[in-house]
This record gives sequence, C-alpha cells and structure tokens, in this order.
Amino acid sequence: MESQIHKIHQQLRNKEITCTKLIQDRLDLLKSNTHNTVNSLLETLALGLAEKVDARIENGEDISLLEGIPFGIKDVYMLQGTLATASSDLLKNYKSPYTATAIQKLLDAGAIPLVKENCDSFGHGSSSENTIFGAVKNAANTDLVGGGSSGGSAVNVAKDFTVFSIGGDTGGSIRQPAGYNNVFGFKPTYGRVSRFGLMAYASSTDCVGPITTSIEDIRLVLNVMSGKDVKDQTSYSSESISASAVLNADEIKTVGYFKNFIETDAIDPEIKSDFLASIEKIKATGIQVKELDFFEADTLVSAYYTLAMAETASNLSRLDGTNYGQRIEGENLKDTYSITRSENFSEETKRRIVGGNQVLSQGFSDEIYLKGLNLRNQIAENFEKDFKEVDIILSPVTPNKPPKIGDSLKDPLAMYLSDAYTVGFSLGQLPTLTIPQGTATGLQITAAKNNDELVLKFANFLKDTI
Ligand code: GLN
Repeated sequence: MESQIHKIHQQLRNKEITCTKLIQDRLDLLKSNTHNTVNSLLETLALGLAEKVDARIENGEDISLLEGIPFGIKDVYMLQGTLATASSDLLKNYKSPYTATAIQKLLDAGAIPLVKENCDSFGHGSSSENTIFGAVKNAANTDLVGGGSSGGSAVNVAKDFTVFSIGGDTGGSIRQPAGYNNVFGFKPTYGRVSRFGLMAYASSTDCVGPITTSIEDIRLVLNVMSGKDVKDQTSYSSESISASAVLNADEIKTVGYFKNFIETDAIDPEIKSDFLASIEKIKATGIQVKELDFFEADTLVSAYYTLAMAETASNLSRLDGTNYGQRIEGENLKDTYSITRSENFSEETKRRIVGGNQVLSQGFSDEIYLKGLNLRNQIAENFEKDFKEVDIILSPVTPNKPPKIGDSLKDPLAMYLSDAYTVGFSLGQLPTLTIPQGTATGLQITAAKNNDELVLKFANFLKDTI
C-alpha cells in the first residue's frame, strides 16, 4: 500500500482538503466507532493544532511532511495535560505532567495527536481485553480480539481512524496486534527510540514503535522518533534511514527460519503451510534459505514471563495511591496501600505482580530470576551465532489466528503461549517488523541489533515477492 503520509501531505499542500476537515473527520470516525479503541479523545488540542496548520498553508508557507498528519497514542504514554490511564482503574484520573520524548518529537514535526488508545492495562496482555474500557474488537471481525497489548492502536490504523499510531512493545505488543489486524507494526532495536515518558512495564525490553499501513510510513515515523535522549540512558543515536536505502535488498543473500517454530503441533496448519509457501517463493528468487535451531517456544515464553513479571512487579511498586493512583483510604497506611492496589489493579496485573515478587524474593531469586537471566544470555548468544550465518530471520507472527473475545480471559496460559514467536526477539532486543503478508496473521522480519534498515529493505523486497 502507498504511503498515507505522502498522500495526505500532497492533499494538504494542494489545498484539496483543509487540515481542520481532515482532523474533524477522523475525530468523528473515532467517536462513533464500535471497536472500543478510544480511551480519550484529544479534540480541543487536535483542532487547535489543525487551525494553525491551515493558517500556515493559507499564508503560502511550506509545510513539512508530518505537519497536520493525525495520529494515535497508546494510553501508556505521557502527553502533558492529558489523561494517561494505562487502561486501569488505578490511573483512570491521572493526567500526564510532561510529554514522552518520542511523542514530543512527533509534535515538533507537526503531527497531530487525536486519541489516547485502548490497550491491555499496563501492557499486560495479548488481546486488549485486560482493560477497564471494554475489549478492543478486531478490525475485520468484531467477534474476535483486537490483539494486544496495543490493540486499540492497531485497529485504529487498520480502520483508517488514524494515519499511524504509536504502540509499545515489550514482548510483541506492536507486532501481534498488527498481525491480527493486517497492518505493519515495527519494534525497533531496543534503545533506538527513547522510552522516556512510556510507562515502564519491563524496562529491559520496552520499545516504542509505529503501526502504519505502509513500510514508507514506518520509515518516516521511525526517523522522527529515533535518537539519543539524555532522559533515557539506554537510548543511542542512529542514522536516519533514507528512502533510497530501503529500496535495494541486493545485500540480503541468506534468510533463516526456526525449524521448531514450524514443526510443532501448536501451530495452526494453515499458518504453517502459508509460511512454508512464502519460504518457497523466497527461495525461487535465488535467496538461500537455512533452517535454524532455536529454543523451544515454551522455554522462550517462560524466560520472558519470568523476567517481565519481575520487572513489572518492581516498576509498578510506585503505584500505591501516594504519589500516583486512585487512593482508597484504609485503617492505616499499610491498609491503604493494600486496598488501593487490590481494588485498582486488574486480575491479570495482580497475577504478574504476585508472580514477579515471588521470582525476586529471597530464597527464590537464585533459583528462578537468575536462571531467567542466564537463559536470556543464551538466547542472545544464539542470535549472535545465527546472524553470522543469515542476514534475516523470518517467522510467523503468531502460532494461531485471533481468538474469540472472552477465550483468552478464561485461559491465561494459552494467552501467554500466543506470544511464542514474538518474545524471543524482544529478549534479544532485535529490530523486528510485522508485515500483513504471507500468513493470516502476517510475517515477522527480524535482523541483527541496530540493523533496522535491513528489516525495511527486506520488507520492501517481499512486497513484490510473496
Ligand atoms: N503479551 C505480552 C505480555 O503480556 C507482551 C505485552 C507487551 O509487549 N506489552 O507480556
């Protein structure tokens, strides 16, 4: 699909539409939508910014590419003066005192935020059902989940309510809902985009990334958001990815895939055969394809959830109703903490806090947490070895198609296993992209650390190949 950003930019410059009309139309679509994608609308802010863009165009001033382009923000980002609820009771009235770096960069580029988007509470989930705003419904079939945790963001992009949305990906939360709703979703190399102002879930894998309807729009938004930030010590500076660089994939000679992701009973037979058919088409272009050995899916899922739960238990400990959160008074301070947290966190979030505190507790941390860290190192070493042999790793995004609304809530373990193909790349901190091609829930293209450009190159190559 062509770039929506370029298309709308031209329409604005040629005065085929006004920015105010563009923004009003999208706000109306968001307001009347029945997919539960909206936590709060940023109507006054958006229309005020649109007026300024229109004035500049009327004055004959040149506008930059992102100026006036409407976008959505997963409701785990700070945008000063607006609600940031994390789809939770605990923060349902919390207003951001500052703005996240990535969002500020988009504002500085002139993009217009329309909406804070529904998601799994604190990023905890794979279906966007763990939310106080009602389950997000899939863009194509409203009986199915929107995916998670950035479900509202993916559905908004798929339905054209936003031109792009900013999701957050800790273990797959951009890539999986992108796959479930047939759009593009990119998790950059860890640290390429500053995490400052993204509510921390698991700090060692949290990533900021775009969801769009084209590869070009991923490139444009990524370039704007990337860069070192003094407020995030894990961020690093990177070169902009040029339009011409991603058009030539000649340097990609070898593609690998994990045998055990495919040769398992846990994968939907149609996803399996579609994936293997895509592999055949890639081979037919002369690219060499290698089967790779990797950790079993349940080992990956266990390692990820052990570490993610430990990190989230620690990160969420600050939410006790004192500095943050809807406080419920008890008999004494301890009671107040306990009631505030028991009443205001969801079942899923509490499961993770309890699990995480167990993992970190004295007597267990050597046995569980350190084992998780050790596995993570082995996974990273495995990737280093693989990327000496192959340029790209291709995989399905999910083992199965999106479940019906309600099913994941009944079976959390099944929900955790739906992350089997995404969490490994998160633990490796690798750049990885979902494209809406190849299988019913898309394909995932991954490259070595800091090789984000190569991922986009291969995605462009696959556009015409499969
Ligand atoms: N589904 C995974 C989890 O619940 C990933 C979530 C995410 O990336 N935020 O941890």
